[in-house]
Amino acid sequence: MAINFYSLGAAEEVTGSRHILEVDGKVYMVDCGAFQGSRAEADRKNRNLGISADKIEAAVLTHGHYDHCGLMPVLTKQGYRGNIYATPATRDIASLIMMDSAHIQARDAEYLRKQARQKGETFNWTPLYDEKDAIEATGQMVGLSYKRPLFIGDNIKMEFFDAGHILGSAMALFTINKNGKETRVLCSGDLGRKGMPIIRDPETEIPAPDYLVLESTYGNRLHDTIDNAMVKLGEIAARMVKNQGKIIIPAFAIERTQELVYYFHLLEDSKVIPEIPIYVDSPMATNATTIFQVHPECYDQDVHEAFIKHHQNPFGFNSLHFTSSVAESKALNEHSGPLVIISADGMCEAGRIQHHLIHNIGDPNTTILTVGYMAQNTLGRRIRNKETELKIHGQFLKRRAAVEEINAFSAHADYAEAASWLSSIDCSRLKKIFLVHGEPKAQAAFKKYLAEKNFPPAEIVRYGENYELD
Ligand SMILES: [Zn+2]
Repeated sequence: MAINFYSLGAAEEVTGSRHILEVDGKVYMVDCGAFQGSRAEADRKNRNLGISADKIEAAVLTHGHYDHCGLMPVLTKQGYRGNIYATPATRDIASLIMMDSAHIQARDAEYLRKQARQKGETFNWTPLYDEKDAIEATGQMVGLSYKRPLFIGDNIKMEFFDAGHILGSAMALFTINKNGKETRVLCSGDLGRKGMPIIRDPETEIPAPDYLVLESTYGNRLHDTIDNAMVKLGEIAARMVKNQGKIIIPAFAIERTQELVYYFHLLEDSKVIPEIPIYVDSPMATNATTIFQVHPECYDQDVHEAFIKHHQNPFGFNSLHFTSSVAESKALNEHSGPLVIISADGMCEAGRIQHHLIHNIGDPNTTILTVGYMAQNTLGRRIRNKETELKIHGQFLKRRAAVEEINAFSAHADYAEAASWLSSIDCSRLKKIFLVHGEPKAQAAFKKYLAEKNFPPAEIVRYGENYELD
């Protein structure tokens, strides 16, 4: 019986997660995420899954981020009819994300068609999938809670452990029985951090793996501490109050938005800043908050106590407003500061955030605050790099707004945190660490760091290359 591992995405890059475990010729897919980056390249990569859908025995989804679940509907559209295993919270979040993507794609197609018509050009771009495909993919999802091992094929068992990354996020442990001998492969998905609000820390009580597929997003970076970040956030907010300006925060609608609101609330409670209006301008963030409310099984102790014991709502705050309609969103343009706008998407590639940037990027009293990972070739990365001329929606705009970055709110472990988690799990059987989900520089640094700390050998996974496991 042969066991093989290979990656068809997020190999030497951070988006488009798609990993394959092949047991005795049967294919198990871990995540089927969308590639994000320059439009043409993303489109080309997202249309080619690199594997025929009818070859897949079962699929597993580690969490609901777009770069992990975004192409599940493409898999369905191409004929996959099997199960997609996910935790119940991941199923809900992924459903929301996939539907949102279907809407954005339909809107983009409409916009591009109109543009082409005006220029007298022919138009032949079609969305990757539509709502029907997204609904079908959601229908294929089988909810499996943490620590409920289940056979997903002949001689292969799968079990989820909390990854501490976003609500519902999981590591997937595969136990393969090969003539009475067990081989365990642990896929980290995206690895979270200790001490994040709302959700639990990454699990450490995991049966000893033989192989580990580990993300390496921040393989060459250390995050600032949350305490320092709170000081910085307080300073930025105080400056905004003084200038009567605005803070625009591009953030993923799930997890980061809820955390940011929580941090602003703490700053208000501790009187670091006065009560200022905070607008969450993302219909998805509103829906996501509802999902947070129905999954108490994912909370850490603090939220559990506030929510369950004291009947407080940790996701409802005094000066917090959720805007849903486009009219409400547009009205924010007329609203004078001080004002905080949190909007999606997190890398500024689509969504309402782009309109807020267009309206405010030329104003020196605006601060654009980046709080998350910005992939190469995204508008968010260009903003974080403080470029002064930016192209948004086809127009070139001069940036006069300040750009600030706080990376302590990251949902990904930095290299020291990842190594610390690794040293707290049972590594007694661990033969090899496969590094995925990282840019080449970060991966090289992380590999070196793991070697210096005497962990088992790490290998940087190359796209499509086959690795035999025993
Ligand atoms: Zn993620």
